[in-house]
Amino acid sequence: MAEKNDLMEKIVSLCKRRGFIYPGSEIYGGLANTYDYGPMGTELLRNIKNLWWKYFVQKRSDMVGLDASLISHHKIWEASGHVAGFADAMIDCKNCKARMRADHLIENFIETNADVIARSTTIVGDEAISKKILSAVSKSKVEGLSVEELSLLVEKLKIPCPNCEKRNWTPVRKFNLLFPVQLGIVEGEGGMGYLRGETAQGIFINFRNVVDSTRVRLPFGIAQMGKSFRNEITPGNSVFRTIEFEQGEIEYFFDPDNASWNELFEKWKNTMWDFVTRELRVMATNLRWRVHTNEERSFYSERTEDLEYKFPFGFKELWGLAYRTNYDLTQHMNISKKDLTITDPHTGKKILPHVIEPAVGINRLLLMVLVDAYTEEEKRVVLKLHPRIAPYKVAVFPLLANKENLVEKAKEIYDDLKEHFMVVLDDRGNIGKRYLAQDEIGTPWCVTVDFDSLEDDMVTVRDRNTTQQERVPIKNLSNYFHNKLDS
Ligand SMILES: [Zn+2]
Repeated sequence: MAEKNDLMEKIVSLCKRRGFIYPGSEIYGGLANTYDYGPMGTELLRNIKNLWWKYFVQKRSDMVGLDASLISHHKIWEASGHVAGFADAMIDCKNCKARMRADHLIENFIETNADVIARSTTIVGDEAISKKILSAVSKSKVEGLSVEELSLLVEKLKIPCPNCEKRNWTPVRKFNLLFPVQLGIVEGEGGMGYLRGETAQGIFINFRNVVDSTRVRLPFGIAQMGKSFRNEITPGNSVFRTIEFEQGEIEYFFDPDNASWNELFEKWKNTMWDFVTRELRVMATNLRWRVHTNEERSFYSERTEDLEYKFPFGFKELWGLAYRTNYDLTQHMNISKKDLTITDPHTGKKILPHVIEPAVGINRLLLMVLVDAYTEEEKRVVLKLHPRIAPYKVAVFPLLANKENLVEKAKEIYDDLKEHFMVVLDDRGNIGKRYLAQDEIGTPWCVTVDFDSLEDDMVTVRDRNTTQQERVPIKNLSNYFHNKLDS
């Protein structure tokens, strides 16, 4: 465990030091659960987003894109159930004022106290401890318990505050995760909007617009990528859980009379798995599927599974896959009073399609590829990122910074390659140090211009993973890298 936390610390430190991820609002003392992406992180994030879009939208004939507003009508979130139900159960320590999620407090306590099961069976006699609670304790999953049941668990298990060790708790209560926005000068409900809590609702409310303005036919999907906002107060592991995050969501619409949701579900599982293992080249041994229990699954969902990645802090959700029936469209149709059904062109039948929803946190994909790529070797730290997502594809070095003709030649090569790839020019320090600096940010290839280059128009290309070098004619360089990136 110590070693694993150590790994997370090393990654967080590298991210700060090399310009991937900075703590948010840092010069003003920081703002909890916010992060800013530095120059390397920005490139990595953009590359992952582009890859996702290409894979799920560009390369498919049954998908279209959407980019809905971040600020949206309060009625959307009432219809979706988020205003009433989108709330975490929170608990406060009266002694040190720490506020935390009650489910996390209890689950962490269960996981770190081996005798807890024994302890809770000794209180079985207490009628108030129901079977439901005992089963939750044995599975270390308290999702689905009421605030009263959670309060009771904190009391009966005698859970101390992880911050100050005291046992002086407020009752557990719900805390809404949506960020309200006061719009313009209209007072009250009329001027009230919300920052979107998920990208999915923007898709549902535009379903009719997309059908009417494009040539889509069932089954088809609408994909959206963008920021969502949740007022989380749980300290996340780096960008794993943040109040502002990037989602990649797809609503795949189908007619349940014409398609089997089980088959579609299995297809989507394969597609998600394929993206992570083949496009991002993440090791399959670090991935697993987890089926949601009846308690944690939304009442309208027939089936939900999470693709989980083995982060240094344990297997955690990366990508959720849910069969949401036609719950959302039904809700929006009822509350907006607009007809959201579509007509089957052959039979004239009215259809309110069902959906399967693959929803991923792009920032989690980013953290996953960093963890997966982080490699310590005897004399260096290497980020073995797949070249397609590496921030820089190529670094160009003049062998010596003070030889004008070397610098000039390197600049020419840089100017040519930058038309094709994200490239960096570096002449500081000795070559060995420049290699190590590029290894640490995952640059797959380094090009060195030496004195021979001036004679034979060839350069040394050094491979990040193998450290092997080969001479390549300057005029072939862009083809050489294109071929490598396509393989
Ligand atoms: Zn406390």
